[in-house]
Amino acid sequence: MSECIFCGIMAGRIPATTVYEDEHTLAFMDIGQVNPGHVLVAVKAHVENLYQLDEEQAGAIARASLRVARAIRDAFHPQGLSVYQANGAPAGQTVFHYHVHLLPRHEGDGMALIWPAKNPPRKTLDAYAEKLRAALGKA
Ligand code: AMP
Ligand code: ZN
Repeated sequence: MSECIFCGIMAGRIPATTVYEDEHTLAFMDIGQVNPGHVLVAVKAHVENLYQLDEEQAGAIARASLRVARAIRDAFHPQGLSVYQANGAPAGQTVFHYHVHLLPRHEGDGMALIWPAKNPPRKTLDAYAEKLRAALGKA
């Protein structure tokens, strides 16, 4: 079985250019650099996706992302910042070890996300919300 790339980075077996570390997270430069200053904030433990994070890890990722996002703002002065996180191949995930992209953005930078809004009627929104409240145990 081939090794998880990000587990290799966490263990120091695969090189990475790191910017921040705490008990649960490591932030390092995305090798692809869609724009300068593009950072990945990853959980140290091998957690495949959002669903598998525990609350402590989720809190640590949020705190680390906030700190690194502010550092990107101060160091690179981007016009904007996209926070991107994919779960599963259909969502665009290519490395199956949980991570958040902090991606500096600029007008006309070529980054595109197609957003095919369906604008359903209110009763459809109500039905979707009812399903979710039931799943949350709030119905
Ligand atoms: P995702 O499509 O959200 O799973 O993103 C995976 C990201 O990991 C891509 O943007 C890659 O450029 C990045 N990546 C893959 N291998 C490495 C590596 N060895 N060091 C840093 N970034 C990497
Ligand atoms: Zn891993």
